[in-house]
Amino acid sequence: MASEKVPYLVGIDVGGTTVKVALVTMDGDVADFSAVRTESMQTPGELASAAGKVRAMAEGFAGDDAYIAAVGLALPGVVTPEDELLLAPNVQVNLEGLVDALAEAFGVPVYPMNDANAAALGELWRGSGQGARNLVFVTLGTGVGGGIVVDGKVVVGRGGTGEIGHLPVVPGGRLCGCGNRGCLEMYTSARGLVHLYRDACARHGQVPVELEHDAHSLPVFEAARHGDDVAVEALDEYARYLGRALAMVACTLDPDAFVVGGGMSAAFDLFGPLVEDAYRDTVIRTCRDIPIRPASLGNLAGMVGAAYHGAQRSGLL
Ligand SMILES: [Zn+2]
Repeated sequence: MASEKVPYLVGIDVGGTTVKVALVTMDGDVADFSAVRTESMQTPGELASAAGKVRAMAEGFAGDDAYIAAVGLALPGVVTPEDELLLAPNVQVNLEGLVDALAEAFGVPVYPMNDANAAALGELWRGSGQGARNLVFVTLGTGVGGGIVVDGKVVVGRGGTGEIGHLPVVPGGRLCGCGNRGCLEMYTSARGLVHLYRDACARHGQVPVELEHDAHSLPVFEAARHGDDVAVEALDEYARYLGRALAMVACTLDPDAFVVGGGMSAAFDLFGPLVEDAYRDTVIRTCRDIPIRPASLGNLAGMVGAAYHGAQRSGLL
């Protein structure tokens, strides 16, 4: 007796150096996932070859009694509500060509979205945001990004919604890559923390711990963890910027939860309570109880969210 084939979702996350692919059940469980290094993906031949590899990987995970019902793609750029790709400064891939090549390879439409938005949706579906309808996701790493989910759907606006890193928190402050001054990202990215720490060292006449580069924030966290007063002071300042920024966002959205992800969230146990304090000290009273939680899906969040987006857009969820 032939058994009916089981539908699965595929979530793909394209980064600067890798393409990650996950096979996801309709309930959001990751059945399997893998990553391939991003090779040149510019010409039609290269794109078709890459798309073919991704499909082979997904189908290898799925096996014979499964079929792929929907595909979503997370990418580091701005995606409009019409699925137009406006900006993808950090990746040397012909993304429009990749979307088309993947759709061709899988035989179903491929729905692209911004990667921070995908992570927001992933955390909402199966991570720290489960149960929330309205969620603000903040990612802290090389940059500061975010995603906003309202009533279970990512808010896209004209493409730029969730750009929390460019909230202007310091009038006339440090010059940001976006051309403005005083953006949150200048204070709460990895580079931002290193900058705050070096400033604090200068104030106290202390020699900074050795850092490999200007965004090497891990040793600063470690120093704070070991009770280095100056590192603690820098982290406190860091947390105040972030807490106040979340307080601003709370006034406009009043979400069910904040979820903090990205590479720096590995040290959430250290700075999370400080952020909470700063948040509660500054936020409007009615929003004081909104939880601020660390993300729980790690690198899977983008893939899980992309799969969810693919399913939503295909009318499956
Ligand atoms: Zn900026």
